[in-house]
Amino acid sequence: MKIGFIGLGNMGAPMAANLVQAGHEVVGFDLAAPCPAGVTKAATAGEAATGAEVVITMLPNGAILRAVAAEVIPAMVPGAVLCDCSTVDVESARAVAEQAAKAGLGALDAPVSGGVGGATAGTLTFMVGGTEDAFATVEPLFAIMGQKAVHCGAPGAGQAAKICNNMILGVTMIATCEAFALADKLGLDRAKMFDVVSTSSGYSWTMNAYCPAPGVGPQSPADNGYKPGFAAELMLKDLRLSQQAAAAVDADTPMGQQAAALYERFVEQEGGKGMDFSAMLPRFENRSRE
Ligand code: NAD
Repeated sequence: MKIGFIGLGNMGAPMAANLVQAGHEVVGFDLAAPCPAGVTKAATAGEAATGAEVVITMLPNGAILRAVAAEVIPAMVPGAVLCDCSTVDVESARAVAEQAAKAGLGALDAPVSGGVGGATAGTLTFMVGGTEDAFATVEPLFAIMGQKAVHCGAPGAGQAAKICNNMILGVTMIATCEAFALADKLGLDRAKMFDVVSTSSGYSWTMNAYCPAPGVGPQSPADNGYKPGFAAELMLKDLRLSQQAAAAVDADTPMGQQAAALYERFVEQEGGKGMDFSAMLPRFENRSRE
C-alpha cells in the first residue's frame, strides 16, 4: 500500500518503520523529527498525503490534528482513508471525520495503547471509531503495527474507549500507590502486600503487571528509577481529555476528576514531569494526611 505518515515522534517513527518493514511504501512528514530508515521524506503534510491510499497521523493534540487534517484532506484521493492514531478529544475526532466524509474520504479515530515499547514491537492495541469500510481498509495495517484492533463504533468511539480506559488506569494507579504508602506506615512488608493483593480482590493491572513499588512484582518503571514507561504528563493529558468529555455530556466522574487534579499537582508543582506515572508512590510515601 502507499501510505502517508504524519507525525514521526516517539510513537509515529517506530509505527512507520514497521509498515516499511512489512513492505509498504511510506512517505512521511514531521515538523521536527527525522524520518526513520526506509520512509521517504516529504516537504509538507500535503505532499505526504498525495496519492496515498491511507494517511496515518500520530500527533500531539486535537488542535494540531485539525490543522493537519485541513491541509491533508484536499490532497487526498477520493476513497482514501485518513486514520488518526493520536489521542485527542472526541469532538476533534468527530469534526475531522465529518470533513473527511464531505471530501469523499474514509476516516478513522484509532488511538492506541501499548506505549513506545508496543509501537516498536508492533504489539499496540487500536481502539477504532469510523465506518466498517474504512476499518476494513486499514485493518491489515493495524495487524502490522499492533496485536489487536477493536472496532468500537461510529466516529469518536475509539477516542471514547481510550479515555475511559485511561481514566480507570489513572484512578487505579493512585489507589494502588496510596495503599502501598498506607501499608508502609502500618509496618506491612511491600512484598507481602503484593503477594496478598495481587491474588485478592484488590488486584489490578497497576498492581499485578506494573507494580509501582521497586523490587516487587514483575519488572516495571519503578525498577528503573521511575523513568517512563508512561509519563505522568501523558496520564495528565488523558485524564484532562476524560474530564473534557465528561463535561461535554454531563457525566458525573468524581474519581476521574480527583485523579486529574492529583496528576496536575504532581506534574506541575511536585516534580512529576518526566517521571513515570507510577512515581505517585514516592509522592505518597513522603506525605502526611491533608
Ligand atoms: P511526540 O511528541 O514524540 O510526537 C509527535 C510528533 O508530531 C513530533 O515529532 C512533532 O514534531 C510532530 N508534529 C507536531 N505538529 C506537527 C505538524 N503540524 N505536522 C507534522 N508533525 C507535527 O509524541 P508521541 O509520544 O509520539 O505521541 C503521539 C500521540 O500518541 C499523542 O497523541 C499521545 O497522546 C499518543 N500516545 C502516546 C503514547 C506514549 O507512550 N508516548 C502512548 C499512547 C498514545
